Amino acid sequence: MTATRPWPPLRDELRGIEPYGAPQLDVPVQLNVNENPYGPSPRVVADIAAAVTAVAGDLNRYPDREFTELRQGLATYLGHGVTPEQVWAANGSNEVMLQLLQAFGGPGRCALSFAPTYSMYPEYARDSVTDWLVGRREEDFSLDLDAARDLIVEHSPAVVLMPSPNNPTGTALPPEAVAVLCEAAGDGIVVVDEAYGEFRRAGTPSALELLPEHRNLVVSRTMSKAFALAGARLGYLAAAPEICDAIRVVRLPYHLSAVTQAVAVAALRHAPELLGRVDELRGERDRCVAWLREQGLRVADSDANFVLFGRFADRHAVWQGLLDRGVLIRETGPDGWLRVSVGMPAEMAAFRRALTEVMENAPRHADDEEDPR
Ligand code: PMP
Repeated sequence: MTATRPWPPLRDELRGIEPYGAPQLDVPVQLNVNENPYGPSPRVVADIAAAVTAVAGDLNRYPDREFTELRQGLATYLGHGVTPEQVWAANGSNEVMLQLLQAFGGPGRCALSFAPTYSMYPEYARDSVTDWLVGRREEDFSLDLDAARDLIVEHSPAVVLMPSPNNPTGTALPPEAVAVLCEAAGDGIVVVDEAYGEFRRAGTPSALELLPEHRNLVVSRTMSKAFALAGARLGYLAAAPEICDAIRVVRLPYHLSAVTQAVAVAALRHAPELLGRVDELRGERDRCVAWLREQGLRVADSDANFVLFGRFADRHAVWQGLLDRGVLIRETGPDGWLRVSVGMPAEMAAFRRALTEVMENAPRHADDEEDPR
């Protein structure tokens, strides 16, 4: 008798798994995927359109495999002495990090992060057949450096993935933490994922400053957040040239389309304008943190363009209550917490109004009743 195999013949570990993704719902106030709420100006739109037109006549040819002009532009944008040989880019930083795990992870190797952490990391590990290990952050979502060092030394991960600022908590890593992780990791790669790096509060430096000191440090960035270009799908990293060379082995041929390259190069020319709203968004974020605290909620300090707050006995009911009032936020993070992305002032006002109404009938998490912060 032949054994019957389920159809389609998925890998065992993928069977029954829901694809990752926040609900894409058509509601008036969308504060759920940490986008920049401000679209490009007509001037930037025209320049991007002209750049696409200029390459359209050559779309019968494959694009520049080495995305030379884009690399140069990204290196200039990053500063800190970063050269084009130290830059790699792909279709979103999601793809950059998957490539890192394809190159440096794999069977018999492990990747490590500290929870709560970005929920895609275990998926990169699974898809690259890398073991996945997770330590814990402290109550305030900071990292206990001694415990982190011990865990890394014990397991020798091939890749350590650290979002800074962290998603979903908004917590940035101090530079001494990056140095400790890089030293503890030895030959392992330490990826500091600065997807939200441009939103850091004053006085929080970027890990880019430490690149010259640690050959195993990779700083990942994206044009999706501060740069207001999530739709273009462009992520990138800065690292030692030999790390960029290694990724070439696993990248798909011509992975960055001519259209993507043209759009990103044109957008970089307008960096000051596209990034021009970052200060405003940081101000709006700080006001959001203060307001949520005034409501007696627990709120994580945030260096990003979102805020984690709670804790509710039934966070799903709060999420649904907001949605019923036209405000979509994200049900993510540890038990009882919710995450709101920072939008325009009118959107934040709608969020505050809706939450005020919903909270009239939303019991707090049992553990928080005595200790609102
Ligand atoms: N890293 C973190 C921490 C993120 O939150 C996100 C997006 N939510 C990404 C990476 C990926 O962003 P993208 O692929 O758009 O660059």
